[in-house]
Parts: sequence; structure tokens; C-alpha cells
Amino acid sequence: MADHYEVLGVARDASPDEIKKAYRRLARQLHPDVNPGEDASEQFKLVTHAYDVLSDPEQRQRYDMGGDSAGGFGGAAGFGGFSDIFETFFGGGGSGGRAGRPRSRRERGQDALVRVTLELGDVVFGVHRDIEVDTAVLCDTCQGSCCQPGTQPVTCDVCHGAGNVQRTVRSLLGNVVTSQPCNVCQGYGTTIPYPCTTCQGQGRVRARRTVSLDIPAGVETGLRLQLPGSGEVGPAGGPNGDLYLEVTVDTHDVFSREGDDLLATLEVSMPDAVLGATTTIESLDGPVDLELRPGVQSGDVLTIKGRGITPLRGSTRGDLRVGVHVVTPTRLDAKERALIEELKKRTKAPGPRLAEFHQGMFAKLRDRFRNS
Ligand SMILES: [Zn+2]
Ligand SMILES: [Zn+2]
Repeated sequence: MADHYEVLGVARDASPDEIKKAYRRLARQLHPDVNPGEDASEQFKLVTHAYDVLSDPEQRQRYDMGGDSAGGFGGAAGFGGFSDIFETFFGGGGSGGRAGRPRSRRERGQDALVRVTLELGDVVFGVHRDIEVDTAVLCDTCQGSCCQPGTQPVTCDVCHGAGNVQRTVRSLLGNVVTSQPCNVCQGYGTTIPYPCTTCQGQGRVRARRTVSLDIPAGVETGLRLQLPGSGEVGPAGGPNGDLYLEVTVDTHDVFSREGDDLLATLEVSMPDAVLGATTTIESLDGPVDLELRPGVQSGDVLTIKGRGITPLRGSTRGDLRVGVHVVTPTRLDAKERALIEELKKRTKAPGPRLAEFHQGMFAKLRDRFRNS
């Protein structure tokens, strides 16, 4: 990247007026309308960019402090940390305005994503898991220095440690200096004469690592948990990336989830529904005693407080809600049939009759009765 002052042919302490005059003079010479050559058009762009930067007091100040980067990023450089982010992604050599500053071999490691499948019971209480991840870890041999033990990087002969090489191009504006990353050291400013043989000079090696973690209660399918610093180690012993854990919760044969509540169906025989019964159900917490009142109806819901899911944030567990499904007997022998007919006669049971459709929060449960 050419130096803006040199491009305009003015001193570094030139006044705004001098800068404007220099630009006008050059623009007249180089304007594409006057001077249709390709070289002149390139020079015109350089001159215009230089003027844009130096004629704006704020941009000029930033440029003087080394903050102007190549190709139209002048405005963006105003955001704090932009240059650092830029360097993280593209390496220091990428920002042409920063000639003379070698890039670092040390970079942050990549983030990693691991998928983990849980059972519903794991979600109720939370669960401890040891998860195997393929990752990069610090090289034991060189501890991230990338060099064979006892050796170290040496200053690059070509760029003398700058990481960049300057090239002077003669042009009609005088000498224009451009800066490019050094080919010999890839912009690091140093070379490694004896790379570590364990990691081939990378400072890190591939490895399978066990990550031990407590998955909190209440997680849902699709949720991603972030484990800062548990991703792979960066090149040359750079800081670790993050590890993301993506959760899938398997469907359960009996229990389903609605918010923090657990839902299930309780099948009840006709005599038990009529006479009432006590029973013990196997919840995810273990056995729970249930009392069925005489005359319990299909669609009635029994709520067992605090036996649902512990929410991800908070500690009050949801409820276990059990929808009653009265099972109508289908195969009757002659004796049973006679008893039911007798019952019908004695109770003067009304025939089928139309009533309001039963809708609402337990429609889901009834759908399950129908489908089962
Ligand atoms: Zn090594
Ligand atoms: Zn070099």
C-alpha cells in the first residue's frame, strides 16, 4: 500500500490547503477523461483515496497512527478491535496498511461441536457425562514452540523480522512503496530451522480427549451448551477455542414432556373406574402411590406435584400429569355379558347422548388413547 503523503507528494505536516492543492493538480493530470491509459486510471484511484483519507481530519489522524488499512476499510477501522479480528481471521499479513509488523504463529484454536443424546430421565435430574472429542492438544515435545527442543526460531534473512517486504515501484508520481507479506517466512518474521518432529512444527497434535461434564436438568432437543476454552488448542499453543454440546433428547415410551411437566396415560379397567382403586405407578423418580376415586372418568387428569422436570433456570420442578383412560372390555364370555346386561337394566343407563366436544389442554392425552 502506497503511503498517502507520498502519493500526493506532500510533507507529513502539510496543511489541509496544501493537500487540497496537490490533489487538484494531480487529479487534473490523471483524470480518466484527460488521460485514458490504464496506469493513469490506477494512479487516479490511489490519489483519490489518499485525498479522501488526508482531507478528513479524523481519518488523517487515524492514518497517522497507523490505523488506515488497505482498500476501503478506513471507515471500519474506527470500530474498536476491528483490526484485531481482521488479523485473527486472515493473519497479520492480510492488513496491508500495517507494514513492518510480523504476524504471530500463535492463534486461537477452532470451536468444536459435539452431539450428545440423552434420555428423558437424564433431563429430569441432570446427568454427568464423559464425552470423547477428537481435538487438537498442545504438543508435549515442544510445548507449543514448534521447534525441536533446544532450538528456537531465527529471524528471517529476507525480511529481517518485519514479516513484510517493501517493493519500490517507479511511477509518474515518484517512487511508490508497496508492502507484501514475506514469502520466505509467510509473514511471521522468523523461520524455524528445526521444526519439532512430533507435531511437524505445528505446536499441537491431534488427540482424542475425554471431556467430563455435568449436563443440567431441563435441557431440550436442539439446545447448545457452550463450554468456553474446551475446544481445540490453537496453532503454536494459542488459546483454546470453545466446545459446543448439542443436545438431543430421545422420546420415552411412556412419558412425554410439556414445558416442565411430564405427561402419561393411566389405563384403568372398567371395574376399577367404577369402584375406585389404589395403585402404584413407576414414575421417573421411582414408585408413586395413586388413589383413584370411585367413578373416575376417561379424560380425568391426576396431578402429582413436583414430579416433573427441573427447569434449566430455576429449581421448582414441574408436575407429573396422568390422564385416565378407562378401558372398555372387548371380549366377554357369556357370564360376563349377562352381568353387564343385568347392570344396564338395574342402573337404567341412558343411551348414547350428544354433549359438548371435550377440548382443551388434555386433548393431546385423548389423542394418544385413540391412537393406542
Ligand atoms: Zn511439537
Ligand atoms: Zn521473512
